[in-house]
Amino acid sequence: AAKSSGRGTYHVFEEATAATAMARLELEQELREAAENGLFQLVYQPKVSVSSGETVGVEALIRWTRRSGEQVSPAEFIPIAEETGLIVPIGEWCLRTAARQAKGWLEAGTPRKIAVNLSPHQVMNERFLGIISGILEETDLPPQYLEVEITESAMMDAEIANRFLSGCRALGIEVSLDDFGTGYSSLSRLTKLPLNLVKIDRSFTQHVSTQEKARALVRSIIDIAHNLGMRCLAEGVETQEQLAVIQSLGCDEAQGFLFSHPVPPDALGQIPAPSINL
Ligand code: C2E
Ligand code: MG
Ligand code: MG
Ligand code: MG
Repeated sequence: AAKSSGRGTYHVFEEATAATAMARLELEQELREAAENGLFQLVYQPKVSVSSGETVGVEALIRWTRRSGEQVSPAEFIPIAEETGLIVPIGEWCLRTAARQAKGWLEAGTPRKIAVNLSPHQVMNERFLGIISGILEETDLPPQYLEVEITESAMMDAEIANRFLSGCRALGIEVSLDDFGTGYSSLSRLTKLPLNLVKIDRSFTQHVSTQEKARALVRSIIDIAHNLGMRCLAEGVETQEQLAVIQSLGCDEAQGFLFSHPVPPDALGQIPAPSINL
């Protein structure tokens, strides 16, 4: 292709680049407006107890619909929000919306603990713990109904990790390690992080019923987590076969399309009991 790239090709390339840059600028501008006005939705996916089949909590996942009606995946706009600093107001909106929802459920007699995803930027922000505590106060939500999910990349600096984790503990909110196994840290790193729950990434769950290696790895993660006094959750459970394997390995909790897709808050009551063979 390089050989045939004469002037014409070069111009096409330049125009494509300009169009891409323009589209990105427009997306960024619209994201800024959405962030200023809280124009997002939270959908919720149940976390299910593997032993009882009961929903033990829900994870809040952000959704953004553009003016054009197009849905943008958080996998696409959260990185942009991080780059531009918009993650600060967006993250605060998520926490406040989730806390209000949890308070609403509590008052309605259907208490559910909500887990909110945090970006590394939020974890590293010194003012962040104060923001969480302010939101708990303002919503009058007992802290045991809020949980945060962080990734390994937010825990790279030991000092920051410890300050954050002890701060959460002091506030009375639980901390989960999201997407475990995809980051840089080793299993031994877990011993240094006082976490409540380890979430095994979907890329392992996916192969647990068909690949012995994936099964061995998941078994190790579960054993180590348990030895350290942490619970374990398998992300992205889609089949009964996968559920049967993680159940046999002693995994505590599961999440995935087998039980429910993420749904708007009002739809949660309508989810049928998951099919778990006890
Ligand atoms: P995550 O926290 O690991 O969330 C799990 C993702 O897997 C969600 O995608 C969920 O819809 C999807 N998922 C759940 N079960 C299954 C399954 O059985 N099969 C498959 N194929 N997928 C499943 P989603 O909602 O698109 O979110 C993607 C990522 O974006 C999240 O990964 C999280 O890292 C980030 N994110 C979402 N909401 C927020 C937020 O409010 N704040 C921040 N900072 N990040 C968020
Ligand atoms: Mg998560
Ligand atoms: Mg995850
Ligand atoms: Mg994941």
